[in-house]
Amino acid sequence: MRNNEPHFDNRFVQALPGDPERGPGRREVRGALWSAVSPTPVAAPRLLAYSPEVVALLGFNESVVQGEGFAQVFGGNALYAGMQPWAANYGGHQFGQWAGQLGDGRAISLGELLAGGQRWELQLKGAGPTPYSRGADGRAVLRSSVREFLCSEAMHHLGVPTTRALSLVATGETVVRDMFYDGNPQGEPGAVVCRVAPSFLRFGSFELPASRGDIALLTQLVAFCIDRDYPELADAGAQRHARWFEQVCTRTAVMVAHWMRVGFVHGVMNTDNMSILGLTIDYGPYGWVEDYDPEWTPNTTDAQGRRYRFGTQMQVAYWNLVRLAQAVSPLFEDAAPLQAGLDAFRTRFEQEQRHHLVAKLGLGRFVEGDDTLMAQFLQLLHEGEMDMTLAFRALAEVDPAAPDVAVLEAAFYAPDKRGQVLPKLQDWLRRHGQRVLADAQAPEVRRATMNAANPKYVLRNWLAQEAIDRAEQGDSAGITDLLDVLRHPYDDQPGREAFARRRPEWARERAGCSMLSCSS
Ligand code: AMP
Ligand code: MG
Repeated sequence: MRNNEPHFDNRFVQALPGDPERGPGRREVRGALWSAVSPTPVAAPRLLAYSPEVVALLGFNESVVQGEGFAQVFGGNALYAGMQPWAANYGGHQFGQWAGQLGDGRAISLGELLAGGQRWELQLKGAGPTPYSRGADGRAVLRSSVREFLCSEAMHHLGVPTTRALSLVATGETVVRDMFYDGNPQGEPGAVVCRVAPSFLRFGSFELPASRGDIALLTQLVAFCIDRDYPELADAGAQRHARWFEQVCTRTAVMVAHWMRVGFVHGVMNTDNMSILGLTIDYGPYGWVEDYDPEWTPNTTDAQGRRYRFGTQMQVAYWNLVRLAQAVSPLFEDAAPLQAGLDAFRTRFEQEQRHHLVAKLGLGRFVEGDDTLMAQFLQLLHEGEMDMTLAFRALAEVDPAAPDVAVLEAAFYAPDKRGQVLPKLQDWLRRHGQRVLADAQAPEVRRATMNAANPKYVLRNWLAQEAIDRAEQGDSAGITDLLDVLRHPYDDQPGREAFARRRPEWARERAGCSMLSCSS
C-alpha cells in the first residue's frame, strides 16, 4: 500500500488493561479501558471522498487510495497487517448530568500508525456495534458522515485544533433513523468516516474510572496520557500532573477562542466530547453562525435550555474542565495546582481572544477600549441581523480614512433591520478607522493580517446540506468541490463566490441547515 508497509504501534491496547470478554455484546466494562471488537463488514464499500493532506500525513500514496483495498479497509471489511481494532471505554457528563459509562458505541479504532515521526490513531466511525453501543446499531448515516468529514478538514485549514478525517466511504447499506424523534423512522444511506488524531482520549476517559473509585486505573491512564500524548512533560518530575492539567486547560482555551473567531458552535459540549489534547472532536449537530447571534445553537435537542449556544462555549469549557479536575483530584495532594490550571484557562482564553481581536479588526496592538469597540461591532451585527463571516471579511475593504458602510451591504439578512443600524454602523466604522490609523500599520500588512484572521469560506450549514443532497442522489462531486474550496478558506478564490454567500432563503428553516438533531 505504501513504499514501506505501514507501521502500527498500538500502545493504547498494549499498555492499558482491556476487557477480558470479547464480542460486541452490551455490558458494563470495569477495570478496563477498552474492548477488542472488529468492524462489522458492509455490503458494498465505495470511497466517496478523501483528504489529500491526511493521505500525505499518513504516508499513503494516492494510487493506493484509489485502489479496491482502501475502501475495504476504511469501510470496515478488511484490516492491514498490524491493525488491532478496539473500542474505548469512557464516561461523561451529558447536558450537565453524569451519564455513567458511554464508550465508543460506533467508533472502532484500528491502530496507531507511525508516520513521519508522528503517531496517528485511525478510527472508523459507523463501523458497527461495540460493547458500548447500548442497544443502538453502531452505524452512521451519510448526512452526518459528510458533515464530520468536511468539518474536520475545514477546521484544520482554518487553523483550529481538530481531529482530522482521512476518508468517507459509502457502505451500500441502509441505516434507519428517526431524524426528528417524532415516530417517523426512515431508511437512509450509511457511511463510515475514518477519523485521525494523535489521541482520542476524552475528559470522560478519566471521569469513568474516577467515578468508580478505581484510582489505580485512573493513575495508570494519566501516566499513559502524559507519556504518549504529552511527551514534552517527560522531564517535569514532581510537577508532571500539575503541568499536564495546566496544558489541557490552556489547549482547551486556545481551541475555544478559535471557535469564537470563526463562528463555530460545537453543539454538544458534553465531557465525553472534549479531547484531552484540546482538539475539536465529535462533529455532530454543530453549526456555523451566519446572522450573528450569541444565543444561537444549531442543536434542536438543546433548543430549550440552549446550554451549548455559541456565546457561552467558553463558560461551558470551563465547567467541563472543573469536571476533569474533580476526576483527577485523587492524584493531587491539594487542590491548588488544579485551581491554577483552571485560572490558566481563563487567562489564556483572554489572551487568545485579544490576539484574535487585534487581527480581526486590523489593529497593530491591543489598547484599553478595543474590547468595547469589538463588543459594539458584534452588537451591531446582532441588531442588524448581519452575517458574521461576510461582515468581518469586508472590514479589510474599508478605507479607514474615508469609511463607507456600503462595503458591508452583502452581510444583511433583513432589509428592515438594515435601515436601523446603517447610521450606527457608519459611526462605528468612523471610530474604527481612527483607531486603525492611530496604529499606522502599512495598509497591505493590515489587510493581510485581517484576511488571515477573518475567513472568506466557512462550512455554512446549507453548503454542507447541498453536498449531502447531491451525495444522497449518488453524486459525490459536491463533497469534493466543497472540500476543495475549504482547503483555502482565507484566499479569495475567483469564480467561487457562490461558496461565500449569505444563507439563501430556502435554508432558513430547512432541517440540516439551521436546525440539526442529534440523530446521526
Ligand atoms: P455522541 O452524542 O455522538 O457523542 O454519542 C454519545 C454516545 O452514544 C457515544 O458513546 C456514542 O458512541 C453513542 N452512540 C451514538 N450513536 C450511536 C449509534 N448509532 N450506535 C451506537 N452508539 C451510538
Ligand atoms: Mg461523543
